[in-house]
Amino acid sequence: MRPVPETFPVSQDFGGGATAGVAPSPDPNSGIAYLVYLYGNYQPLGHAGRDIACPIGTPVRAMAGGTVLWADWATNLPGDDSWVGWASRWFLYKRFPGICSVIQHPWGIGVYAHLSDNNMAPAGMKVREGQVIGLSGNTKAIGPAEYVGAHLHVEALIDLGYSNANGLIYGRTDPAQF
Ligand SMILES: [Zn+2]
Repeated sequence: MRPVPETFPVSQDFGGGATAGVAPSPDPNSGIAYLVYLYGNYQPLGHAGRDIACPIGTPVRAMAGGTVLWADWATNLPGDDSWVGWASRWFLYKRFPGICSVIQHPWGIGVYAHLSDNNMAPAGMKVREGQVIGLSGNTKAIGPAEYVGAHLHVEALIDLGYSNANGLIYGRTDPAQF
């Protein structure tokens, strides 16, 4: 199921906004070129999930039943910059997802990012489809200069082999199908 109601629109789709080869621009009206200016080549192959614009505090619901694997600031995620380190944190950047929930669903791993409150369904907890697992927000790394704009970022990680083949981006597929 959709983690927030249909009334909230998709603001960036899976695979959109590839930053590879985009020259940075300090002009705030230059779209992705400005984001590359701010954040560097942050999604070279395109957006790893789906963004849904929604106000801070919107209840976020589990797309399917499962078990919570992580529920905290992503800056606290484990692992170094080796392949093993990246795999141990589900190929998540530590500075990007802010407060995030990672849930093992039957079809793979769901990531719910930029949440506003880390008083949420804790790691180890079993959740039902539709259960509220946190509140949406605009967190990135800690600090107001790092905020990303209010939205929910949702990912579906189905291939821990980190393959980019067959449309997969960083082991992800389009979460819309779930
Ligand atoms: Zn996103």
